[in-house]
Amino acid sequence: MNKAILIRFGEIFLKGKNKHIFERMLIHNILAALKDYQLKLTKISGRYILTEYEELYETDIMEKVSHVFGVYSLSPCYVVKTLRQNIEDCLKQIEITTQTFKVDVKRADKFFPIQSTEFAALMGGVILDKKPSLKVNLTKPETCVYIEIREDGNTYIYSTIVKCVGGMPVGSSGGGLLLLSGGIDSPVAGYLMSKRGMPLQAIHFHSFPYTSELAKDKVISLAKIISEYTGNIKLHIVPFTKIQEEIHKHCKPEYMITLMRRIMMRIAERIAKQNDLKAIITGESLAQVASQTIESMTVTNAVIADLPVLRPLIAMDKEDIIEISKKINTYETSILPYEDCCTVFLPEHPIIKPKLEKVLKEEERLNIEELIADAISKIEVVNTDEI
Ligand code: ATP
Ligand code: MG
Repeated sequence: MNKAILIRFGEIFLKGKNKHIFERMLIHNILAALKDYQLKLTKISGRYILTEYEELYETDIMEKVSHVFGVYSLSPCYVVKTLRQNIEDCLKQIEITTQTFKVDVKRADKFFPIQSTEFAALMGGVILDKKPSLKVNLTKPETCVYIEIREDGNTYIYSTIVKCVGGMPVGSSGGGLLLLSGGIDSPVAGYLMSKRGMPLQAIHFHSFPYTSELAKDKVISLAKIISEYTGNIKLHIVPFTKIQEEIHKHCKPEYMITLMRRIMMRIAERIAKQNDLKAIITGESLAQVASQTIESMTVTNAVIADLPVLRPLIAMDKEDIIEISKKINTYETSILPYEDCCTVFLPEHPIIKPKLEKVLKEEERLNIEELIADAISKIEVVNTDEI
Protein backbone atom coordinates (compact mmCIF):
# COMPACT_ATOMS: atom_id res chain seq x y z
CA MET A 1 0.00 0.00 0.00
CA ASN A 2 1.59 3.27 -1.15
CA LYS A 3 0.64 6.90 -0.71
CA ALA A 4 -0.05 9.03 -3.77
CA ILE A 5 -1.68 12.34 -4.71
CA LEU A 6 -4.35 12.42 -7.42
CA ILE A 7 -4.45 15.65 -9.42
CA ARG A 8 -7.57 16.64 -11.38
CA PHE A 9 -7.29 19.30 -14.05
CA GLY A 10 -10.87 19.59 -15.17
CA GLU A 11 -11.88 18.99 -18.74
CA ILE A 12 -12.47 22.61 -19.79
CA PHE A 13 -9.21 23.20 -21.58
CA LEU A 14 -8.87 19.65 -22.80
CA LYS A 15 -11.57 19.73 -25.44
CA GLY A 16 -10.04 21.61 -28.38
CA LYS A 17 -7.18 20.88 -30.73
CA ASN A 18 -4.72 22.59 -28.39
CA LYS A 19 -5.24 20.14 -25.57
CA HIS A 20 -1.77 18.61 -25.84
CA ILE A 21 -0.12 22.03 -25.64
CA PHE A 22 -2.13 22.94 -22.53
CA GLU A 23 -1.36 19.63 -20.90
CA ARG A 24 2.34 19.94 -21.56
CA MET A 25 2.30 23.40 -19.94
CA LEU A 26 0.40 22.15 -16.94
CA ILE A 27 2.81 19.26 -16.37
CA HIS A 28 5.75 21.62 -16.78
CA ASN A 29 4.25 24.08 -14.25
CA ILE A 30 3.43 21.36 -11.70
CA LEU A 31 6.96 19.97 -11.92
CA ALA A 32 8.44 23.49 -11.68
CA ALA A 33 6.41 24.14 -8.51
CA LEU A 34 7.74 20.84 -7.09
CA LYS A 35 11.35 21.23 -8.21
CA ASP A 36 12.64 20.87 -4.65
CA TYR A 37 11.10 17.41 -4.13
CA GLN A 38 11.94 13.97 -5.41
CA LEU A 39 8.82 12.35 -6.86
CA LYS A 40 7.26 10.81 -9.94
CA LEU A 41 4.38 12.23 -12.00
CA THR A 42 2.37 9.91 -14.25
CA LYS A 43 -0.79 10.34 -16.26
CA ILE A 44 -3.70 7.99 -15.76
CA SER A 45 -6.82 8.49 -17.86
CA GLY A 46 -7.64 12.16 -17.44
CA ARG A 47 -5.68 12.74 -14.22
CA TYR A 48 -2.15 12.95 -12.98
CA ILE A 49 -0.79 11.01 -10.09
CA LEU A 50 2.19 11.88 -7.92
CA THR A 51 4.04 8.98 -6.32
CA GLU A 52 7.41 8.04 -4.83
CA TYR A 53 7.65 11.18 -2.67
CA GLU A 54 8.63 11.25 0.96
CA GLU A 55 5.46 11.09 3.02
CA LEU A 56 6.84 13.68 5.40
CA TYR A 57 6.46 16.28 2.62
CA GLU A 58 2.95 15.32 1.52
CA THR A 59 1.24 18.41 2.96
CA ASP A 60 3.86 20.76 1.50
CA ILE A 61 3.61 19.11 -1.91
CA MET A 62 -0.19 19.37 -1.87
CA GLU A 63 -0.01 23.04 -0.91
CA LYS A 64 2.34 23.78 -3.82
CA VAL A 65 0.25 21.87 -6.38
CA SER A 66 -2.97 23.49 -5.16
CA HIS A 67 -1.53 26.87 -6.26
CA VAL A 68 -0.77 25.81 -9.84
CA PHE A 69 -3.28 27.37 -12.26
CA GLY A 70 -5.11 24.67 -14.21
CA VAL A 71 -5.31 22.29 -11.23
CA TYR A 72 -8.92 21.95 -10.05
CA SER A 73 -8.68 19.50 -7.15
CA LEU A 74 -6.42 17.05 -5.34
CA SER A 75 -6.85 13.94 -3.27
CA PRO A 76 -4.24 12.33 -1.08
CA CYS A 77 -4.84 8.62 -1.57
CA TYR A 78 -3.63 5.07 -1.06
CA VAL A 79 -2.67 2.97 -4.05
CA VAL A 80 -2.94 -0.83 -4.01
CA LYS A 81 -2.63 -3.48 -6.71
CA THR A 82 -6.20 -4.29 -7.71
CA LEU A 83 -7.14 -7.29 -5.57
CA ARG A 84 -10.14 -7.48 -3.27
CA GLN A 85 -7.97 -8.45 -0.30
CA ASN A 86 -5.64 -5.45 -0.83
CA ILE A 87 -8.59 -3.08 -1.00
CA GLU A 88 -10.10 -4.49 2.21
CA ASP A 89 -6.77 -4.21 4.03
CA CYS A 90 -6.46 -0.61 2.93
CA LEU A 91 -10.00 0.30 4.04
CA LYS A 92 -9.17 -0.95 7.52
CA GLN A 93 -6.43 1.70 7.68
CA ILE A 94 -8.75 4.59 6.84
CA GLU A 95 -9.87 6.51 9.89
CA ILE A 96 -13.43 7.88 9.59
CA THR A 97 -14.10 10.53 12.21
CA THR A 98 -17.66 11.46 11.21
CA GLN A 99 -20.83 9.59 12.14
CA THR A 100 -22.08 8.83 8.64
CA PHE A 101 -20.35 7.60 5.49
CA LYS A 102 -20.80 5.93 2.16
CA VAL A 103 -18.56 4.11 -0.28
CA ASP A 104 -18.41 5.19 -3.92
CA VAL A 105 -16.88 2.75 -6.40
CA LYS A 106 -15.74 3.62 -9.93
CA ARG A 107 -14.84 0.54 -11.93
CA ALA A 108 -12.96 1.66 -15.05
CA ASP A 109 -11.29 -1.78 -15.16
CA LYS A 110 -14.10 -3.98 -16.41
CA PHE A 111 -12.03 -7.09 -15.76
CA PHE A 112 -12.62 -6.60 -12.06
CA PRO A 113 -15.28 -9.26 -11.41
CA ILE A 114 -17.68 -7.46 -9.05
CA GLN A 115 -20.00 -4.64 -10.19
CA SER A 116 -19.63 -1.19 -8.68
CA THR A 117 -22.79 -1.01 -6.51
CA GLU A 118 -22.36 -4.51 -5.19
CA PHE A 119 -18.69 -3.93 -4.41
CA ALA A 120 -19.53 -0.61 -2.67
CA ALA A 121 -21.97 -2.45 -0.40
CA LEU A 122 -19.39 -5.14 0.37
CA MET A 123 -16.69 -2.59 1.18
CA GLY A 124 -19.14 -0.57 3.30
CA GLY A 125 -19.55 -3.78 5.29
CA VAL A 126 -15.78 -4.03 5.80
CA ILE A 127 -15.70 -0.49 7.20
CA LEU A 128 -18.71 -1.17 9.47
CA ASP A 129 -17.10 -4.37 10.79
CA LYS A 130 -14.14 -2.32 11.93
CA LYS A 131 -16.22 0.52 13.42
CA PRO A 132 -19.83 -0.59 14.09
CA SER A 133 -20.85 2.80 15.51
CA LEU A 134 -20.76 4.30 11.98
CA LYS A 135 -23.97 4.72 9.96
CA VAL A 136 -24.31 4.44 6.21
CA ASN A 137 -26.01 7.41 4.55
CA LEU A 138 -26.23 7.14 0.77
CA THR A 139 -27.74 10.58 0.10
CA LYS A 140 -25.89 12.96 2.45
CA PRO A 141 -22.89 11.20 3.95
CA GLU A 142 -20.44 13.29 5.98
CA THR A 143 -17.59 11.19 4.60
CA CYS A 144 -17.43 9.57 1.20
CA VAL A 145 -14.82 6.87 0.69
CA TYR A 146 -13.91 6.68 -2.99
CA ILE A 147 -12.56 3.49 -4.53
CA GLU A 148 -11.35 3.94 -8.10
CA ILE A 149 -10.46 0.71 -9.85
CA ARG A 150 -8.35 1.88 -12.79
CA GLU A 151 -7.26 0.21 -16.04
CA ASP A 152 -3.60 0.41 -14.98
CA GLY A 153 -4.07 -2.48 -12.54
CA ASN A 154 -4.12 -0.17 -9.53
CA THR A 155 -6.91 0.88 -7.20
CA TYR A 156 -6.93 4.38 -5.68
CA ILE A 157 -8.67 4.88 -2.36
CA TYR A 158 -9.34 8.27 -0.76
CA SER A 159 -11.85 10.24 1.26
CA THR A 160 -10.71 13.85 0.81
CA ILE A 161 -11.09 16.16 -2.19
CA VAL A 162 -9.23 19.46 -1.84
CA LYS A 163 -10.48 22.26 -4.11
CA CYS A 164 -7.61 24.10 -5.84
CA VAL A 165 -7.19 27.37 -7.77
CA GLY A 166 -8.50 26.25 -11.18
CA GLY A 167 -7.94 28.57 -14.16
CA MET A 168 -5.70 27.94 -17.16
CA PRO A 169 -2.05 26.84 -17.12
CA VAL A 170 0.34 29.80 -17.10
CA GLY A 171 1.90 30.00 -20.56
CA SER A 172 -1.30 29.28 -22.46
CA SER A 173 -1.63 33.01 -23.24
CA GLY A 174 0.86 35.69 -24.31
CA GLY A 175 2.65 37.49 -21.46
CA GLY A 176 1.62 40.67 -19.64
CA LEU A 177 3.47 43.48 -17.86
CA LEU A 178 1.86 44.23 -14.48
CA LEU A 179 2.14 47.74 -13.06
CA LEU A 180 2.86 46.66 -9.52
CA SER A 181 2.54 49.23 -6.73
CA GLY A 182 2.78 48.40 -3.06
CA GLY A 183 -1.01 48.55 -2.65
CA ILE A 184 -3.76 45.98 -2.32
CA ASP A 185 -5.10 46.09 -5.86
CA SER A 186 -2.29 45.51 -8.32
CA PRO A 187 -1.10 42.14 -6.90
CA VAL A 188 -4.71 40.90 -7.17
CA ALA A 189 -4.92 42.17 -10.77
CA GLY A 190 -1.75 40.22 -11.65
CA TYR A 191 -3.02 37.09 -9.94
CA LEU A 192 -6.31 37.21 -11.87
CA MET A 193 -4.69 37.63 -15.29
CA SER A 194 -2.18 34.91 -14.55
CA LYS A 195 -5.07 32.66 -13.56
CA ARG A 196 -6.25 32.90 -17.16
CA GLY A 197 -2.90 31.57 -18.34
CA MET A 198 -0.93 34.83 -18.72
CA PRO A 199 2.75 34.73 -17.67
CA LEU A 200 3.73 37.91 -15.81
CA GLN A 201 6.55 40.35 -15.62
CA ALA A 202 6.12 43.38 -13.37
CA ILE A 203 7.21 47.01 -13.37
CA HIS A 204 7.45 49.21 -10.31
CA PHE A 205 8.15 52.95 -10.18
CA HIS A 206 9.85 54.11 -7.03
CA SER A 207 10.74 57.51 -5.68
CA PHE A 208 13.80 57.02 -3.55
CA PRO A 209 14.60 58.91 -1.28
CA TYR A 210 11.03 60.25 -0.92
CA THR A 211 9.97 56.64 -0.49
CA SER A 212 12.22 54.33 1.49
CA GLU A 213 14.18 51.22 0.54
CA LEU A 214 11.59 49.37 2.63
CA ALA A 215 8.87 50.43 0.20
CA LYS A 216 10.87 48.82 -2.59
CA ASP A 217 11.44 45.66 -0.54
CA LYS A 218 7.70 45.47 0.05
CA VAL A 219 7.05 45.39 -3.71
CA ILE A 220 9.71 42.71 -4.17
CA SER A 221 7.99 40.66 -1.43
CA LEU A 222 4.63 41.07 -3.16
CA ALA A 223 6.10 39.87 -6.46
CA LYS A 224 7.60 36.89 -4.63
CA ILE A 225 4.22 35.98 -3.11
CA ILE A 226 2.36 36.10 -6.43
CA SER A 227 5.16 34.16 -8.11
CA GLU A 228 4.09 31.14 -6.04
CA TYR A 229 1.11 31.02 -8.37
CA THR A 230 2.57 32.42 -11.57
CA GLY A 231 6.12 31.09 -11.66
CA ASN A 232 9.13 33.39 -11.89
CA ILE A 233 8.37 37.12 -12.17
CA LYS A 234 10.94 39.42 -13.71
CA LEU A 235 10.46 42.72 -11.86
CA HIS A 236 11.67 45.94 -13.48
CA ILE A 237 12.27 48.65 -10.88
CA VAL A 238 12.28 52.11 -12.44
CA PRO A 239 13.65 55.18 -10.63
CA PHE A 240 10.85 57.76 -10.90
CA THR A 241 12.04 60.58 -8.64
CA LYS A 242 13.58 62.79 -11.32
CA ILE A 243 10.40 62.59 -13.43
CA GLN A 244 8.22 63.55 -10.49
CA GLU A 245 10.49 66.44 -9.56
CA GLU A 246 10.38 67.75 -13.11
CA ILE A 247 6.58 67.55 -13.27
CA HIS A 248 6.37 69.21 -9.86
CA LYS A 249 8.69 72.00 -10.96
CA HIS A 250 7.16 72.77 -14.35
CA CYS A 251 3.51 71.72 -14.44
CA LYS A 252 0.25 72.64 -12.73
CA PRO A 253 -0.09 70.66 -9.49
CA GLU A 254 -3.58 69.38 -10.29
CA TYR A 255 -2.17 67.52 -13.33
CA MET A 256 0.55 65.75 -11.32
CA ILE A 257 -1.16 62.35 -11.18
CA THR A 258 -2.37 62.42 -14.79
CA LEU A 259 1.08 63.32 -16.06
CA MET A 260 2.75 60.70 -13.88
CA ARG A 261 0.40 58.00 -15.11
CA ARG A 262 0.96 58.87 -18.74
CA ILE A 263 4.73 58.65 -18.28
CA MET A 264 4.41 55.37 -16.37
CA MET A 265 2.37 53.97 -19.25
CA ARG A 266 4.86 55.11 -21.89
CA ILE A 267 7.71 53.45 -19.99
CA ALA A 268 5.60 50.33 -19.39
CA GLU A 269 4.83 49.99 -23.09
CA ARG A 270 8.49 50.20 -24.02
CA ILE A 271 9.52 47.63 -21.43
CA ALA A 272 6.66 45.36 -22.52
CA LYS A 273 7.77 45.53 -26.15
CA GLN A 274 11.43 44.95 -25.27
CA ASN A 275 10.41 41.80 -23.39
CA ASP A 276 7.96 40.54 -26.05
CA LEU A 277 4.94 41.00 -23.75
CA LYS A 278 1.52 41.41 -25.31
CA ALA A 279 -0.42 43.46 -22.74
CA ILE A 280 -0.17 45.94 -19.87
CA ILE A 281 -2.07 45.18 -16.64
CA THR A 282 -3.11 47.64 -13.93
CA GLY A 283 -5.02 47.35 -10.66
CA GLU A 284 -7.42 50.19 -11.43
CA SER A 285 -11.06 49.96 -10.40
CA LEU A 286 -13.61 52.43 -11.72
CA ALA A 287 -14.20 55.42 -9.42
CA GLN A 288 -12.04 54.08 -6.61
CA VAL A 289 -9.90 57.25 -6.51
CA ALA A 290 -9.66 60.49 -8.49
CA SER A 291 -7.28 59.07 -11.08
CA GLN A 292 -9.60 56.17 -11.82
CA THR A 293 -12.40 57.95 -13.60
CA ILE A 294 -13.19 56.92 -17.15
CA GLU A 295 -11.86 60.31 -18.36
CA SER A 296 -8.53 59.75 -16.57
CA MET A 297 -8.20 56.30 -18.01
CA THR A 298 -8.93 57.62 -21.50
CA VAL A 299 -6.20 60.23 -21.19
CA THR A 300 -3.78 57.61 -19.82
CA ASN A 301 -4.62 55.11 -22.57
CA ALA A 302 -3.97 57.75 -25.22
CA VAL A 303 -0.19 57.35 -24.87
CA ILE A 304 -0.29 53.63 -25.61
CA ALA A 305 0.33 52.89 -29.27
CA ASP A 306 -0.86 49.34 -29.75
CA LEU A 307 -0.94 47.16 -26.64
CA PRO A 308 -4.15 46.41 -24.76
CA VAL A 309 -4.32 47.78 -21.19
CA LEU A 310 -6.05 45.11 -19.11
CA ARG A 311 -7.81 46.20 -15.90
CA PRO A 312 -9.25 43.03 -14.42
CA LEU A 313 -10.51 44.84 -11.29
CA ILE A 314 -12.35 47.57 -13.17
CA ALA A 315 -15.83 46.48 -12.02
CA MET A 316 -14.93 45.09 -8.61
CA ASP A 317 -15.70 46.52 -5.18
CA LYS A 318 -12.80 47.08 -2.79
CA GLU A 319 -14.26 44.52 -0.37
CA ASP A 320 -14.13 41.81 -3.02
CA ILE A 321 -10.58 42.74 -3.99
CA ILE A 322 -9.53 42.57 -0.33
CA GLU A 323 -11.11 39.13 -0.02
CA ILE A 324 -8.97 37.82 -2.90
CA SER A 325 -5.84 39.50 -1.54
CA LYS A 326 -6.38 37.72 1.79
CA LYS A 327 -6.91 34.40 0.03
CA ILE A 328 -3.72 34.71 -2.02
CA ASN A 329 -1.74 35.96 0.96
CA THR A 330 -0.74 39.41 -0.33
CA TYR A 331 -3.01 41.42 1.99
CA GLU A 332 -0.78 41.48 5.08
CA THR A 333 2.16 42.71 3.02
CA SER A 334 0.08 45.23 1.02
CA ILE A 335 -1.13 46.98 4.17
CA LEU A 336 2.36 47.54 5.58
CA PRO A 337 2.61 51.30 5.99
CA TYR A 338 5.26 52.30 3.45
CA GLU A 339 4.63 55.17 1.07
CA ASP A 340 3.93 54.66 -2.61
CA CYS A 341 5.42 56.99 -5.22
CA CYS A 342 1.92 58.28 -6.04
CA THR A 343 1.62 59.77 -2.56
CA VAL A 344 4.71 61.93 -3.08
CA PHE A 345 3.87 65.41 -4.38
CA LEU A 346 0.19 64.50 -4.16
CA PRO A 347 -1.83 67.61 -5.08
CA GLU A 348 -4.67 68.75 -2.85
CA HIS A 349 -7.12 68.89 -5.73
CA PRO A 350 -6.17 66.46 -8.48
CA ILE A 351 -8.02 66.89 -11.73
CA ILE A 352 -10.76 64.30 -11.89
CA LYS A 353 -11.85 64.65 -15.51
CA PRO A 354 -8.70 65.68 -17.41
CA LYS A 355 -8.99 66.96 -20.99
CA LEU A 356 -6.40 65.66 -23.43
CA GLU A 357 -5.63 69.09 -24.99
CA LYS A 358 -4.82 70.56 -21.59
CA VAL A 359 -2.71 67.58 -20.61
CA LEU A 360 -0.75 67.87 -23.85
CA LYS A 361 -0.12 71.57 -23.08
CA GLU A 362 1.29 70.61 -19.67
CA GLU A 363 3.50 67.97 -21.25
CA GLU A 364 5.04 70.57 -23.58
CA ARG A 365 6.83 71.94 -20.53
CA LEU A 366 8.72 68.65 -20.06
CA ASN A 367 11.43 66.92 -22.01
CA ILE A 368 9.58 63.64 -21.87
CA GLU A 369 11.75 61.61 -24.25
CA GLU A 370 14.92 62.48 -22.35
CA LEU A 371 13.34 61.76 -18.96
CA ILE A 372 12.05 58.38 -20.15
CA ALA A 373 15.36 57.37 -21.74
CA ASP A 374 17.21 58.31 -18.55
CA ALA A 375 14.80 56.35 -16.30
CA ILE A 376 14.93 53.28 -18.56
CA SER A 377 18.74 53.32 -18.54
CA LYS A 378 18.69 53.09 -14.74
CA ILE A 379 16.23 50.20 -14.36
CA GLU A 380 17.14 47.56 -11.81
CA VAL A 381 15.91 44.01 -12.53
CA VAL A 382 15.01 41.43 -9.88
CA ASN A 383 13.93 37.85 -10.66
CA THR A 384 11.74 36.31 -7.95
CA ASP A 385 13.30 32.87 -8.53
CA GLU A 386 16.64 34.26 -7.44
CA ILE A 387 15.49 35.64 -4.08
P1 ATP B 1 -2.94 49.73 -5.68
O1 ATP B 1 -3.68 49.25 -4.48
O2 ATP B 1 -2.67 48.63 -6.68
O3 ATP B 1 -1.73 50.55 -5.31
P2 ATP B 1 -4.53 52.05 -5.79
O4 ATP B 1 -5.94 51.83 -5.48
O5 ATP B 1 -3.63 52.58 -4.75
O6 ATP B 1 -3.94 50.73 -6.42
P3 ATP B 1 -3.49 53.99 -7.63
O7 ATP B 1 -2.40 54.36 -6.70
O8 ATP B 1 -4.30 55.03 -8.31
O9 ATP B 1 -4.56 53.01 -7.03
O10 ATP B 1 -2.86 53.11 -8.76
C1 ATP B 1 -3.62 52.52 -9.77
C2 ATP B 1 -2.78 51.47 -10.49
O11 ATP B 1 -1.62 52.10 -11.08
C3 ATP B 1 -2.20 50.44 -9.57
O12 ATP B 1 -3.12 49.39 -9.33
C4 ATP B 1 -0.99 49.99 -10.31
O13 ATP B 1 -1.34 49.05 -11.33
C5 ATP B 1 -0.50 51.27 -10.95
N1 ATP B 1 0.51 51.94 -10.07
C6 ATP B 1 0.33 52.90 -9.17
N2 ATP B 1 1.47 53.25 -8.56
C7 ATP B 1 2.43 52.47 -9.11
C8 ATP B 1 3.85 52.32 -8.93
N3 ATP B 1 4.52 53.05 -8.04
N4 ATP B 1 4.51 51.42 -9.68
C9 ATP B 1 3.85 50.66 -10.58
N5 ATP B 1 2.54 50.74 -10.80
C10 ATP B 1 1.82 51.63 -10.08
MG1 MG C 1 -1.49 52.69 -4.95
